[in-house]
Amino acid sequence: MRLDKLLANKAFGSRKEVHQIIKDRRVTVNDIIVVKKDHPINIDTDTIAVDGSQISTKQLYYIKFHKPAGYITAVEDRSQPVVMDLLPPEFKKMGVFPVGRLDKDTEGLLLLTNDGVWAHSIINGHKHVPKVYYVEFHGILSKEGLERISAGIVLGDGIQCKPATINILSDKSLEITIEEGKYHQVKRMIGAAGGEVTYLKRLSVGHITLSGIEETNTYLEIGDQEIADFK
Ligand code: URA
Repeated sequence: MRLDKLLANKAFGSRKEVHQIIKDRRVTVNDIIVVKKDHPINIDTDTIAVDGSQISTKQLYYIKFHKPAGYITAVEDRSQPVVMDLLPPEFKKMGVFPVGRLDKDTEGLLLLTNDGVWAHSIINGHKHVPKVYYVEFHGILSKEGLERISAGIVLGDGIQCKPATINILSDKSLEITIEEGKYHQVKRMIGAAGGEVTYLKRLSVGHITLSGIEETNTYLEIGDQEIADFK
């Protein structure tokens, strides 16, 4: 890989800005100052530093995957099929793991990466990343139950949820937007409001949607802009 591409990938700026950094003699490869922007880098063996600080040359992957039902969200499991079985083996070799979790019977958008910082910024909730789910359910969701979900419903075990947005589609289906990721959260919220989820699909996480991966069991690498949204 070229030195300028590597630095641009590592968010040191646009190609132009990166060229300036290299020209300013701020970059070393194996402790030697390099001023050639297209200097070839071996990401497995070379040591790169900018202003004396070493940078990781590990290739980072950012993937959106349309998870089918029937697979657990894990890298490995002794007895059950896992989502990583559906992706190219090189991802697993590069340390890619699922960001958060969808239940075994849940379909839809699952993000995967080997960038721990990025994963953390999505999961830890500080950024209030909205997640939209399509839900089909049995039973009747009362007006009062829907109001409780909007206001922040308390689950059966006393756990308080943050306010969520509900968009009713029919008497058996709705979309719900939540900013948290508690265990079985949507199923338990709908349960606490008097319904029972029969089908659940995640449609989006922040700005990232199923666009381009409409079929289950398909994946795409995520674009730079979508990656940056969570940084
Ligand atoms: N809420 C759930 O209940 N299950 C999921 O898989 C995701 C959110």
